[in-house]
Amino acid sequence: MVGLRVPGMRLMLLAAFASTLSAQLLGPQIRAGAARTEITPDLKKHGPVYMAGFGNNRVATGIHDNLYARCLALSAGGQTVVLCGVDSIGLFADDVEKIRAEVRKQLAAKSKSKAKDPAVVVAATHDHEAEDTMGLWGPAQGTSGINEAYNSFVIARVTEAAVDAIRHLQPAIVTLGQAHPSDLDTLIDDDRPPEVHDAGVIVLKATTAKGKPIGTLVNWANHPETLGSKNTLITADYPHYLCTELEQRLDGVAVFLNGAVGGMQSPLGAKVPDPATKRPAPENSFLKAELIGRRVAEVAVGAALNGQTVPADRIEFQESRITIPISNKGFQLAAQADLYKGRKKMTPDGGTSAPVGVVRLWARGKAVLEAALVPGELYPELSVGGVERYSGADFPDAPIEPPIKKMMSAEFKMLVGLADDEIGYIIPKAEWDETAPWLKNAPQAWYGEVNSVGPEAAPRIAAALEQLLKSVPPNPKAN
Ligand SMILES: [Zn+2]
Repeated sequence: MVGLRVPGMRLMLLAAFASTLSAQLLGPQIRAGAARTEITPDLKKHGPVYMAGFGNNRVATGIHDNLYARCLALSAGGQTVVLCGVDSIGLFADDVEKIRAEVRKQLAAKSKSKAKDPAVVVAATHDHEAEDTMGLWGPAQGTSGINEAYNSFVIARVTEAAVDAIRHLQPAIVTLGQAHPSDLDTLIDDDRPPEVHDAGVIVLKATTAKGKPIGTLVNWANHPETLGSKNTLITADYPHYLCTELEQRLDGVAVFLNGAVGGMQSPLGAKVPDPATKRPAPENSFLKAELIGRRVAEVAVGAALNGQTVPADRIEFQESRITIPISNKGFQLAAQADLYKGRKKMTPDGGTSAPVGVVRLWARGKAVLEAALVPGELYPELSVGGVERYSGADFPDAPIEPPIKKMMSAEFKMLVGLADDEIGYIIPKAEWDETAPWLKNAPQAWYGEVNSVGPEAAPRIAAALEQLLKSVPPNPKAN
């Protein structure tokens, strides 16, 4: 028996040696590719262009800077995941599904490979200075602001960038980095208690095996609404400066994925010092957007340069669809008035259906990066913890949802907001407050619930993520 076992051991050792050797000889186990396409509206063809995010009837009068869809594709262990950041207020799951179907169709037409279908993640940056793609900001209340020609153009262009990124996949070296200097929090004004931010910068940088830049993913959380409600020039807001600066300094394509922006993470009201005058940059100015974007880019570059290279050998994507009851009367009226133009159909029980997902990057059996894909604007305390029980809450005994980043085990944790859908604010149930008395004895209602599906959004999303983060599906290549 001993005599038989020894050759077996030798074979195993030999196999292990061969796989290490092949990894060294063949290079990295992961491939990466990146691409970007322009999605700036044509003010005539896609007009009148109603700008999204504030009031009705804000018609665009010019273009300050171009809008883009930027994608980074990663492929390992038989699975490809392409992550796209889109300069848009939000894209409903209906439009994202069209992008996914079109990506599959275009790739299948040119490939005979039996590889698993790529997973496509589309996250709007939540740009408040772009054309209305959701219908809520039309010429008047009750009239949709969607121009179908523009939505179709965005769908085609995001598809193009995703397909292009996948076609350019090549062996890659992946570096992960993160940084959270305290001044990042000063770029955010939070006007509803508790004051919690999820303001760390998390970066994934991919280069070719020879070190040539491919692309960078950057995750940070703040509303791109620096220009405010009076601006009529199309702009990507601070992500324009963030991505442009990163693309200049690191080369390749910089994909910005916004984070937990709810409750209310905004540059409006934040004092951002202008080094030239030593005074705060003027409110609603391009200078302020530039200072925010460039500062986040600087932190991201530092995080990437000081990051750690990971021997990534597997990428995993999981998604589940959940149903959330709609208690918001305004949302019900919007659907009845067909503001969404056929999108966001209510489920038979009067709810909304939304995707919740997880992307995980693995290296030698260990998760090194986890990204939670959340279909809206998450209150940051649901990401990093800090939900408070205040007097006046409508559900004082509601269980507190487990903080999403605390359910993750990887060193690098991303929270991607507005991922594959936009259902509005996701508010901790224990902080839900639609009826007086108001939280903390405030004289009037806090802002938030008016833009939320309802109090069940947070518990259902947290529960779905808990399930996804607990389960590890088998590696497709191992099947
Ligand atoms: Zn918002």
